[in-house]
Amino acid sequence: MNRINIAIDGPSGAGKSTLAKAVSKALHIFYLDTGSMYRAVAYAAVKAGIDIKNTYEVEQLIEKIDLHTVYVDGEQQNLLDGENVMPYIRTPEISKAASDISAYPCVRHKLVAMQREVAEKYDVVLDGRDIGTYVLPNAEYKYYVTADAGERARRRHLELAHKGIDKDYDDVLREMKIRDNNDSTRSFAPLRQADDAILIDTTHMSIDEVVGAVLSRLSQE
Ligand code: C5P
Repeated sequence: MNRINIAIDGPSGAGKSTLAKAVSKALHIFYLDTGSMYRAVAYAAVKAGIDIKNTYEVEQLIEKIDLHTVYVDGEQQNLLDGENVMPYIRTPEISKAASDISAYPCVRHKLVAMQREVAEKYDVVLDGRDIGTYVLPNAEYKYYVTADAGERARRRHLELAHKGIDKDYDDVLREMKIRDNNDSTRSFAPLRQADDAILIDTTHMSIDEVVGAVLSRLSQE
């Protein structure tokens, strides 16, 4: 059976998740936030007091981790030891730890296998960094969403403020650049636009314009 798999990649703050959620809602299909899975592993590492720079400790964690991604009422949950950790993983500490831990091939192998399983089982929109290039290279629909670093940091700063997290804009921009650099220079499945992905620069676009552009193209296919 041919599944609808829509791959949306790009750096943080480009608007991937807002776009992916809107597309999944419009098409009545699932949304898989793959970044949240790396965040769940980072959360497990921080909780266990693991040194993320220590390869052996990270490998041990991955070998034993009890992590499952499920859908409850159409919403993704990442269950760590049976508990949904989605509410705990959007902090600056976990963002940094997720970026660091995602460079380990053992972490990526584990999560990529889980992501491919979801994509095989369901029609789904996936957002991440390596969906079009590595997780689902044969996906029929691929988008690479980006925006100026300054604009992405502005959006992330606003998002944190809405959550009551007070952080300096300059710090948000600096940390975002470090993460972008980590993500695009790691040796295994780095952040990169797939050759056959459509590039969308959202710097001067509203989210409605971005969603409209993607949906109108999908409806023409
Ligand atoms: O998208 P989000 O910011 O939640 O992702 C957190 C981190 O997980 C990213 O900085 C990146 O290092 C990693 N990630 C990844 N591959 C993906 C999705 C996220 O390496 N497909």
